[in-house]
Amino acid sequence: MSFIELSNVSLRYDNGYLAVEGVNLSIAQGEFVALVGPSGCGKSTLLRVISGLRPPSNGAATVHGRVVKGPISGIGMAFQNPTLMPWRTILQNILLPLEVSPQHKQRYRQNPRPYIEAARELMASVGLAGFEDAHVWELSGGMQQRASLCRALIHQPEILMLDEPFSALDAFTREELWQAMQVLYMSRKPTVILVTHDLREAVYLSDTIYTMSTRPGRIAYSRRIEFPRP
Ligand code: ADP
Ligand code: ADP
Repeated sequence: MSFIELSNVSLRYDNGYLAVEGVNLSIAQGEFVALVGPSGCGKSTLLRVISGLRPPSNGAATVHGRVVKGPISGIGMAFQNPTLMPWRTILQNILLPLEVSPQHKQRYRQNPRPYIEAARELMASVGLAGFEDAHVWELSGGMQQRASLCRALIHQPEILMLDEPFSALDAFTREELWQAMQVLYMSRKPTVILVTHDLREAVYLSDTIYTMSTRPGRIAYSRRIEFPRP
């Protein structure tokens, strides 16, 4: 059994809308997967099912061989909007997940030093060295998104979920961020699921691309395309 498995997953929202139907997916540990498809085809919904934020109406998601029954820990997330807190410095924002992580919060409270060091290293690896004490409004959109990627990784999650984290950036900044993402991925090799509209982005970053489409009847299906990593 693969690290993440979706078997025959369907999800119907409370209003009756069938957002995902009959999806099967197998994701290996450390695999970088891209989910591409038009707006509204159910990509974010699928992320919610895998992370346990939404129980499927049918079928099941398993992670590490265990059926997902509620929000699972050990996930890092980044979204289109970086959602950094303006009253905290950049370093404090990146350290935030440690305050709630079941695996880390105890150790972090007792001895934050190694975590602060790790945050500085993450920041340096994506070109944010020197901005530890800066505030959100002092950073460009691209830099804020770099910080949000560091925040998503600070608690060393096994799974990283990225919901269009580069979509709001200009084309030039976006490609710089792809490089930063590549560096972050290669340093830890988490299992990554990236939702994107951008096929070039998917090709650049991922090992495997699944396309989701909305057919009449709102049925989502997936197809596997595999690329060798350069
Ligand atoms: P994508 O991420 O591919 O853009 P989503 O998974 O966000 O698609 O949404 C899939 C479909 O389900 C969309 O038509 C969306 O409007 C609908 N949807 C999403 N969330 C809800 C919800 N909470 N209640 C009802 N419909 C929803
Ligand atoms: P995304 O930009 O990731 O596709 P959406 O704009 O579809 O996200 O959804 C944003 C939020 O609104 C989500 O929490 C989703 O569950 C909710 N939502 C989306 N569509 C609907 C809908 N038709 N009814 C109720 N909630 C919805």
